[in-house]
Amino acid sequence: MSERTLVLVKPDGVERGLVGEVISRIERKGLKLVALELKNVDRQLAEQHYAEHDGKPFFESLIEFITGGPVVAACVEGPKAIAAFRQLAGGTDPVEKAAPGSIRGDFGLEVQYNLVHGSDSPESAARELKLWFPELGA
Ligand code: ADP
Ligand code: MG
Repeated sequence: MSERTLVLVKPDGVERGLVGEVISRIERKGLKLVALELKNVDRQLAEQHYAEHDGKPFFESLIEFITGGPVVAACVEGPKAIAAFRQLAGGTDPVEKAAPGSIRGDFGLEVQYNLVHGSDSPESAARELKLWFPELGA
């Protein structure tokens, strides 16, 4: 059974020229790109995307970061795509949690600037894909 997940290369990843690296890892894992877009994120989309973090101490800084430059958004598909990309990404803190060999573990240092986003559950994936790629439907 195939599923879909939302992947973002955040502004730090785009700025550092890591888009190709991230896409390459997705493809080498065997996952498929269903949609891919370079996009400027407005405040409304950012706040909706990160609604679960509203009220946390890092929320305002996170919104400023994610709206601060273009992101690459992708709809990625495959068996266990949600967990598979979370594994490729590594834990949220690039040093404390992400293993070497993961995207964050290999390229990140700071928790906010952790390069990529991946949906964390089927419910999140459905909600986020509707926000970022409404044209894909369902
Ligand atoms: P993940 O992206 O691994 O699902 P979360 O959903 O917990 O992590 O957090 C969303 C994003 O908010 C993180 O990817 C990171 O960019 C940022 N973030 C999380 N925790 C912190 C923190 N303590 N300080 C600053 N930024 C944070
Ligand atoms: Mg999350």
